[in-house]
Parts: sequence; structure tokens; C-alpha cells
Amino acid sequence: MDSSPAFANRMRQMRPSTIREILKVTVQPNIISFAGGLPAPELFPVAEVQAAANQVLRTAGASALQYSQSEGLRPLREWIAAEMQDRGVKTAADDVLIATGSQQILDLVGKLFLNRDDVVLTENPTYLAAIQSFQTMEARFVPVPTDSEGLIPEALPDLIRQHKPKLLYTIPNFQNPTGVTLPERRRVALAEIAARHGLTVMEDDPYGKLRYRGTNIPPVKHWDEAGRVLYASTFSKTIAPGLRTGWVVAPPEVFSRLLILKQASDLHTSSFDQHVEYTYLTTNDQAGHLGKIRQAYGERFEYMDRMLREMMPAGYTWTKPEGGMFLWITGPAGLDSLELLQRAIAHDVAFVPGRDFFPGEGGRNHMRLNFSNSTPDRIREGVRRLSELCRAG
Ligand code: PMP
Repeated sequence: MDSSPAFANRMRQMRPSTIREILKVTVQPNIISFAGGLPAPELFPVAEVQAAANQVLRTAGASALQYSQSEGLRPLREWIAAEMQDRGVKTAADDVLIATGSQQILDLVGKLFLNRDDVVLTENPTYLAAIQSFQTMEARFVPVPTDSEGLIPEALPDLIRQHKPKLLYTIPNFQNPTGVTLPERRRVALAEIAARHGLTVMEDDPYGKLRYRGTNIPPVKHWDEAGRVLYASTFSKTIAPGLRTGWVVAPPEVFSRLLILKQASDLHTSSFDQHVEYTYLTTNDQAGHLGKIRQAYGERFEYMDRMLREMMPAGYTWTKPEGGMFLWITGPAGLDSLELLQRAIAHDVAFVPGRDFFPGEGGRNHMRLNFSNSTPDRIREGVRRLSELCRAG
């Protein structure tokens, strides 16, 4: 007799993630980790958040510790609505649902749209935890052909006819894992195709404020006259991920259903965290803070790029992101990046092998490198070790 508990069918599709196994060892300080998706901790506004927390407890007191509305803290929703206008999306506070990280939005959107075997279109590769999240809904993944500018909208009508997808999931800015940015004309085309075919698009934008080169491009949602695009973002990369606060901007018929799912999931996002964020945002020079993050990440990218150019053997190429936290290396066709990772960990350096980012096949000869979380010294030493291993392999 099988002695394991009778788990739900949805667990069948879930595969253990290499990333978790990696992260276990990479917390050791001797390991130079380009693996995690971590912001630079030295740039967290610790003193400012501390002051905001003190102010919240002094002025809002018990109400900041009480249960609160599932929609989120009203003043914070208003702040986000104004921020959305700056990003090029006309938004009212009523359209903003606060969530426990944008990761929760993936969960809620999956629950709202996906029955078993429903199709999700994604970039190929795409964000690992989005794959995991939609897998819990027992969804099927169909990759959209991509090139060096992201997904190719012209490929969509055929895919839509053939697979009748319920959802398209995309990360247009400095994509995780590739660092690629979708150009404006493709965003316009995507919004137009979504409207024409009645396709729901989930636009995930955690990194849009982290552009250190080039000019900002408005979100796909900017061109969404038909109300087909759900736009998600987060404070994880602009304040700190430990506060676990993200948001989604959704049309009313989607919003009201996401709200029910949110209530069922966790009642509401931490009231205290939301109060602290609102106070922090309204009493500090957030633009100045973002400027520091952009400058540091830009320098770190430039440095990693230079080190890779100086040290990597022939046959390896990589993306040149204009923002965000990751670059994506493509190795020779024969490269097995999982095997390389095992050797790398033995030499105290880590990255994420490409495999985990592909909902279907692919990724063997790819690696994702994070540059935001390492100082220049560690970038130089980490790239040196990695390139020696590539040469030896
Ligand atoms: N989407 C993408 C593309 C991400 O890279 C991340 C975090 N690395 C998230 C969503 C989740 O972010 P959070 O839950 O911290 O807002």
C-alpha cells in the first residue's frame, strides 16, 4: 500500500526547484552568489523605514495593528494611483488592489482565470515562480516565440486560434530571467491583439523603475483601451522585499473577483507594513533613493559585462539589459549548465541554470546571473571563477 498522504492532483505537475536547492548553500558567506534575485541590501532604507515605523506606532497606534480592508490601505492605494499616472496609466485608487507581494497576484490571477488544462501563453524563458504558480492551477504552458526584443506579437494570432489561451503572462521591462525589454511598437501590437482577440494579458512589472540606461517605455496597459490588461507591480525592488507589498491595477469586473480571492487567501496584506510604506513614501525623497539604486545597479551591470568580456571564453554571449537585476548567458550548444553549476558550487560561485525558466523544453545551455546583489570585488572574483570553469568544461 502507498503510505504517502493522498495529495491533490495539482501537486503532480509541481517539480522541485533547483533554485531552492541552490539558495540553501548560497546563503553561506564564502559563496559568491549570482543566483538569487536579491536587491542590494546595503541600499535598503533601514533608518528611514525605522523612522516611519516609529511614526506609525506613535500616530496611528492600534489601528495600524488592527485587521483592515482587503482592498488595501486607502491612502496607499491613492499614492499608487498617482504613481500609475506617472507610469503612463490612467488609474483611480479604486482600481488598485494591494497584495502580499506581486507573487500573490500571480496566485490570485491564476485562480481567477485558469481551470485545469487551460493554456497560459508565456515568454520562453519566463519567471520561474510564475511557472510554479500557474502550475498549481494545473495549467498548460504554450511558449510564445521570442527574440532579442522579447515576445513576437505577430506569432500570437495563430497561437490564439490554435490553443485558445485564457491568459498571456509577460514581463516587458528587463525581463526575469533574460533582462530583455519589449519595445514600444510590440507593446502597442500586444494591446491591440489582446483587444481584438479578447485575450487577458497579465503584465508583470517589478523592475520598471530600475532603468539605468535608455528611456522609459510606457507599460502595455498604457495602450489598453479595451480593459484586457492587468498590470502588477511591487515595492520589493524600490523599498524592500521583506515588506511583502505589491499591487494590481484591474478593471472593475476583474477587481471585484480578485478581491474575493484575496479575502479567501489572507484577508488582507499586513496593515502595519502598508502604514509603514505609506509613511515612508510620503516623508522621504523616494526619487533620490531610486536614483541611488539605479546608479548602483547600472555600475554593477557595466562591471559584470566588462568582466565577462575580459574573461569568458569564446562561444558565450549575454544580454545587455538597460535596467533590472539580471543578465542571461547563452553558452555553446553542448553546454550543460546544471552540470556547470555543480562544479561552480564546488568553487564557491553560483548562478541559476536556464532549465528552470522554461515551462517546456530548453535552457540547458543558458544561465541567469544576478548583478544587483554583489559588490564589484565579488563580481570580479565570481566571474573569474565561472569563466575558468567554462574554459575547463
Ligand atoms: N514577478 C517577477 C518577474 C519577479 O522577478 C518577482 C520577484 N523576483 C516577482 C514577480 C515577485 O515579487 P514580489 O512578490 O516580491 O513583489
